[in-house]
Formats: sequence, structure tokens, C-alpha cells
Amino acid sequence: MRLVLLGPPGSGKGTQAAALARHFNVPVISSGELLRGRAAGGGEESRHVAELLVRGELVPDELAVTVVNEALKGAGTDGYIIEGFPRTVAQAEHLDAPPIDAVVHLAVPDEVARDRIAGRSGHGRSDDARRDIVERRLRDYHSETEPLLDLYGRRGVLRSVDGGQTLEAVTAEILRALDAHRR
Ligand code: ADP
Repeated sequence: MRLVLLGPPGSGKGTQAAALARHFNVPVISSGELLRGRAAGGGEESRHVAELLVRGELVPDELAVTVVNEALKGAGTDGYIIEGFPRTVAQAEHLDAPPIDAVVHLAVPDEVARDRIAGRSGHGRSDDARRDIVERRLRDYHSETEPLLDLYGRRGVLRSVDGGQTLEAVTAEILRALDAHRR
């Protein structure tokens, strides 16, 4: 099972990715986690990545592509759940993987995303704590990432689910959507 989870910040991508990974017994490849790992290393590049992350800016496509493709090489053959990537059309074009089975879109209105991010701020992610940074991430999602919905829609792999429900209800809806998709 090779899946991509798409959705705005606060849509629950990380949580759903973990639930789906348990269900299908495959690893999660989270670009956000991989980049936070990069930012924690020493050296010039780490400092630069850390700076982009605190400002809530997308890292350059080339870096996002590199960290994800590296993780894919180590992922084994059973599949994976990719979360947080691709975030731009250019990234999608450089995803170095066999065709994905489905792209799950977690649809969540901006107000819900804002509330959820506000609710989790204080749990360690400084990019969740500042209003202006959250707004930038939402804007980037609409301008850079949302065009991917068209692209994957045309390829016939997109499944949109209502990400505004409880976490358990969202997981159940994703599994139903995938089931229908495979039949
Ligand atoms: P969220 O989706 O809630 O913003 P993530 O953990 O997915 O959280 O991402 C955190 C930050 O990491 C983003 O704001 C961005 O700076 C960076 N990032 C993650 N994935 C990508 C990507 N594919 N391309 C560029 N930047 C990324």
C-alpha cells in the first residue's frame, strides 16, 4: 500500500498517517519530521533549515525531494504512508517512487485548521505558536499545495475525506474510501 496524505496544516495528517501505518503495517515517511531531523543536526545547512522551519516557510523543493527520496530508498517493498509531501507541483514531479495507489486529501476548512493548531501549540512546535506563521502556512497550502488536488484528480487517484470529524471517524472514512477505490 503506497499512500500520500495531503491536507493543510492542522488537518491531522500526522495522526492519520500513524493510524494508517499501524493498520497496513507500513512505515510513515513524514517530510516535516525528516526536515526537523535535518534542522537538529550541526552545521550551516541545519541552521538554514531550522530558520525556515521557525518562520513557517517551505524549504526549497530540492531539499524536500532529497530527504523524502532518501527515506523511500530505505523503506522496503510493502509500501509506506507519505505525509506532508509533495507540497508543490515541482515536488510531485520529482517523487522517486512507483506509482502511488491513492492520494488521500484531508479536507478541513481554515477555521478548523486554525483552532486545532492553536490547541496543540505549547506542545513544542514553535511554528504553531505564532498567528502570522500559521497564516503563512495556510496561505502556502492554498497557493502551492492545493493545485496538486487537480493534478491527482486528473490521474484518478485522489480521494477526499472530511477531515473535520473526530480522528477515529476520519480514519474510518479513509479506510472506506480506500476500499471503494480498490474495488
Ligand atoms: P504542518 O503540515 O502542520 O505544517 P509539517 O510537519 O508537515 O506540519 O511541516 C512543518 C514544516 O516543515 C512546514 O511548515 C515547512 O516549513 C516544512 N516542510 C514540510 N514538508 C515540506 C515539503 N514537502 N516541502 C517544503 N517544506 C516542507
